[in-house]
Amino acid sequence: MTKKMNKKEKQEFRKTLLDKKERIVHKLSQVMTESKEVEMNVAQDLVDKAESSYTKEFLLSLSDTEREQLLLIDEALRRLDRDGFGLCQLCGQEIGKKRLAALPWTPTCINCQQKAEEESAAE
Ligand SMILES: [Zn+2]
Repeated sequence: MTKKMNKKEKQEFRKTLLDKKERIVHKLSQVMTESKEVEMNVAQDLVDKAESSYTKEFLLSLSDTEREQLLLIDEALRRLDRDGFGLCQLCGQEIGKKRLAALPWTPTCINCQQKAEEESAAE
């Protein structure tokens, strides 16, 4: 294990993740009628609020990709709080800096990602 991510790096990742989340939520809430309420609900914590009907409705209005991305972003934010951020959720290895910079919400390293893709392609 190499050196831990410092506070400043974490803050930058948090900002990137929150910006990205806000952009998705904002863009999609514009097409909803109760947009303000939805936006507020979803912007708080997608996972915790998944029981609220607004959030459910909102989630249903998303495409699979957007929904998946929002959940990944929320999970990444949680990992930032718990110190697991930057580690692959499957093998525990560090995720490469470049990969993390391009996809800060990714839960897996490039090796596991490739493995998963090969497996789904083989089905
Ligand atoms: Zn991995």
